Amino acid sequence: MPAIPIEKIVRSRRKTIALEVTFKATLVVRAPHRVPQAYIDAMIQQKSAWITKKMAEMRARPQAHARRYEEGEVFWFLGRPYPLHFTDEPGDTIVRTDRLEVSRALIPDVRIALQRWYVEEAKKEITARCLYFSMMTGYSPTSIRITHAQGRWGSCTYRGGLNFSWRLVQAPLSIVDYVIVHELVHLRQHDHSKKFWAKVEALMPDYQQRREWLRENERLLKI
Ligand SMILES: [Zn+2]
Repeated sequence: MPAIPIEKIVRSRRKTIALEVTFKATLVVRAPHRVPQAYIDAMIQQKSAWITKKMAEMRARPQAHARRYEEGEVFWFLGRPYPLHFTDEPGDTIVRTDRLEVSRALIPDVRIALQRWYVEEAKKEITARCLYFSMMTGYSPTSIRITHAQGRWGSCTYRGGLNFSWRLVQAPLSIVDYVIVHELVHLRQHDHSKKFWAKVEALMPDYQQRREWLRENERLLKI
């Protein structure tokens, strides 16, 4: 079997090796500083069936810019893929099972209907996580709003309110959490100074990995 190419190896103070197949169907390895390359190669060899399967899944996913809103097309919610499925049920609600079930009646407006669904889900999920982290940290936003922002995942207003793009709810919960913690810390520290990152790290020691995931995948979450 040909060796699986590694896009990059990210070394850090972590204690274990993690293999991650990105949305671009490439392999990223996260490893402790001292683990030898041969050990990593052996692990990839051992997990090759899983990696190949994941890569095929990721490749099957249409690119973000080529959305067609067709039967079977994959949409992401909290880091998991949901194929779009049109049903003959009447009504304008979208139901998430292991698929996203959408009434055929919505087809003319399916893009808008899906966006509305994402906004509603984002309100529930992001608000709940934000309140949780607010309680944990003692940093309290004056408001939490879900926006249609394309270029940024979250922002902090001068009045102390937090905004999050509904697009964020496509990402895994660990990434949602990172953006929330990042914005909560901005309530006290408005810049991206060393002091800011130190506060983020104190709350979320592995924030760098999450930040990097977002950088690697954000282009694909911009539907
Ligand atoms: Zn920031």
